Amino acid sequence: MKEAEKEVEKVFIGGLHEELVEDKVIDESQLEPGFADDIKKYGGKDVMTCLQCGNCTGVCPISLKIDYKTRNIIKCCQFGLKKYTLGTRWVCATCYRCYEHCPADLNPAEVMIALRHIAVREGIIPPFIKTAATNLVKYGQSVKPDAEIDKIRKELDLGLIHSQDPDYHTVIREIQVLIHAAKYDKLIGIEEEVKV
Ligand code: SF4
Ligand code: SF4
Repeated sequence: MKEAEKEVEKVFIGGLHEELVEDKVIDESQLEPGFADDIKKYGGKDVMTCLQCGNCTGVCPISLKIDYKTRNIIKCCQFGLKKYTLGTRWVCATCYRCYEHCPADLNPAEVMIALRHIAVREGIIPPFIKTAATNLVKYGQSVKPDAEIDKIRKELDLGLIHSQDPDYHTVIREIQVLIHAAKYDKLIGIEEEVKV
């Protein structure tokens, strides 16, 4: 079989509320008319300007890995179908390729970020987000340091993370104070990790 003929394997990265909207009967009770305004409130632009051209989906590096493509998500936002939008947005890489190719200057990437803000405030927080946040307050970075990472850093000629350095603990402390002041710890349920 030629390379181009191989079927592309689709590995769906399930969100907490992942459902195929095309398989569902949508009635008015599912529509939230104020949803587009909520997206603007959290930093997204006006989703009603989307032309549904599909450029964003075409250039998105995660398109083949998710059931809901970027264009679909924007369409759901236009209709106010909130429950279909708050799951897979966590896998958006915020690479902004969609923004570069959007003729409506909508910036889908920032719509995705706004959707994350809304999801978190509704308690839809994937475990990996809590893990990353916990690592941040403990180690000052979202990935827990380990010997393998140290090895890779060395190969890349990057400095090692000095957990024994007194400044390291000062920095961690500052991160914790900032996280607590912003109420981020409460928002995502990691208060116990933040010792203020
Ligand atoms: S590229 Fe822009 S206008 Fe086109 S579908 Fe995506 S968000 Fe809508
Ligand atoms: S910012 Fe997100 S939605 Fe836009 S192209 Fe990149 S991964 Fe896809």
